Amino acid sequence: MELDLSGLDDRVFDALAETAKRRYIYMCNMKTNVSRWSKNAVEYFGLPGEYFKDAERLWADYVHPDDRQHYLDDIQAVLSGKKKYHDVEYRAKNKDGNYVVCSCRGVIVRGENGEPDLFAGTLDNHGLLDNVDPVTNLYNGYAFLNALRAYCTAGAEGLIMAVGINEFTNVNAIFGYALGNQILSKFGDQLYRFVKNEGCGTLYRMDGAKFAVCAPHMNEAGAERLYAQIREIAHRKIWIANRQIPLTVSAGAVLARNFSGDEYAIQASVISALRRSKQERFGRLVFFDNEQADSARKDLELMEALQKSIVNHCEGFYLCYQPIVLADSGKIVGMEALLRWNKEPYGEVPPGRFIPWLENDLHFYELGRWILRQAITDAAVVLEQRPDFFVNVNVAYTQMERAGFRDTVLELLRELRFPPQNLHLELTERCRSLRIDYLQEEMQYFKSCGIRMVLDDFGIEGSSLELLGNLPIDHLKIDRSFVSEIESDPVQQTIVEAVLNCAEKLRIQTCIEGIETDPMRRFLLQYPASFHQGYFYSRPVRFERFLQLLEA
Ligand code: C2E
Ligand code: CA
Ligand code: CA
Repeated sequence: MELDLSGLDDRVFDALAETAKRRYIYMCNMKTNVSRWSKNAVEYFGLPGEYFKDAERLWADYVHPDDRQHYLDDIQAVLSGKKKYHDVEYRAKNKDGNYVVCSCRGVIVRGENGEPDLFAGTLDNHGLLDNVDPVTNLYNGYAFLNALRAYCTAGAEGLIMAVGINEFTNVNAIFGYALGNQILSKFGDQLYRFVKNEGCGTLYRMDGAKFAVCAPHMNEAGAERLYAQIREIAHRKIWIANRQIPLTVSAGAVLARNFSGDEYAIQASVISALRRSKQERFGRLVFFDNEQADSARKDLELMEALQKSIVNHCEGFYLCYQPIVLADSGKIVGMEALLRWNKEPYGEVPPGRFIPWLENDLHFYELGRWILRQAITDAAVVLEQRPDFFVNVNVAYTQMERAGFRDTVLELLRELRFPPQNLHLELTERCRSLRIDYLQEEMQYFKSCGIRMVLDDFGIEGSSLELLGNLPIDHLKIDRSFVSEIESDPVQQTIVEAVLNCAEKLRIQTCIEGIETDPMRRFLLQYPASFHQGYFYSRPVRFERFLQLLEA
């Protein structure tokens, strides 16, 4: 079919089309509905030709689906006379299938009687690399910095939040980048829809597995609510090839009004808050304030020193042991290995300060192996005199989640000729965030080898009771927060009694932790617990001292 090209073969068009490589010119004869697009646009987007019909509808297919309605609405507003200029920003797909950010401006040229004659305008391509992330099609870190700059210059209120997927390096290492990218893209997509539906701000993808939201009118409470939903999305809504991939995330936030500094300072702060969330708060939302900056720097130094120690054959680390005694006689029957680190200029650093961080670090796996080796070696010495003696070793999330952990443990037992039934593995609270079927399988495997499985810190979270029924547990330890006021607090009494009775029925042995005084010990004797542990019996001590305790 011959196209009617009237009104479109304009020398001005030709001249304008030459003005810039990344600026495209278009013109549409409103009567014939035939358009002409500059050659650079035809090439770059792979349009059907320089001239074609029905450009408004055809071009809509090139516009990102999430921006399409916005584009069409704007055109309608111009055609109906509601708006004077067509003026929108959207993502458009180029001929390679990648989206680029474009600003599209246009105007209607009317004839003598006021009827629309021509629709003409420009399309500016802001590029692939500078604004949009090709994996997720979201605005990228560069666009994020631009947005932050705008916040700074306008002195605007609002909130900036960074969300990171935990353990993503492992995903890439284990499953490869292709699946890694699919996960990022799915997650980005879900977040985008959600943020858009809520109408609360703009989403960006930063480097790696980090995303950011700029929310112009949000306060702290709003941020907590937003993040709760994001966690839920990460945990439940990512499906790839009919398989659910439950992700865990961490998040840091900065309130713009609290902030003094430029866009780079805001970015650094929100990332620092994100890091704290991941390393110290198990992914809870952390707000940044200026005072934290100093402590954040110190934390970072400490973290680096710890990592160096691990790489340096775990130099500076040592184990203390705390006795586990029979509840009724007080006789020492086992010990729990507790990690310590002592290094100048930091001195003695308690594990509560560094384990939650290190647990997220790949280095922890090496350290975990060192802990097991040390604890088993020491326990073997006691075993020579007391064949029933057992050693409890704490197991971190980073260890339990690794498929190779089984072999690591069994190889050590074989090498050190240690009977498996004298090794007890304590699953700390965070291990329980692993998938339940995975946990079941791993625990069952260890049990089938003779190793005993212990649930540590029982009672810390709501799901504990459910776990009792679902996991193959040999022992459970009642957290000291449940017995701290046991002599006077009827609530604690009720809970402890219920848990101990329940465990007894399920034939699970129990250990009460944190017994600090003799009256406390005597009070607790009325409950059916198998073991006791706490400062009253002994604080954690070096192995030499532990041997003396055994003699006494
Ligand atoms: P946890 O496994 O619950 O260890 C018991 C903690 O309670 C120890 O703190 C111990 O010193 C303390 N404790 C024992 N009796 C009493 C008492 O009567 N009163 C009070 N107030 N506290 C008592 P610690 O050694 O600071 O360890 C803290 C946590 O660090 C441990 O809690 C455990 O979750 C983690 N951890 C320690 N060593 C290791 C390790 O080798 N590997 C892993 N993954 N985690 C470890
Ligand atoms: Ca423990
Ligand atoms: Ca514990």
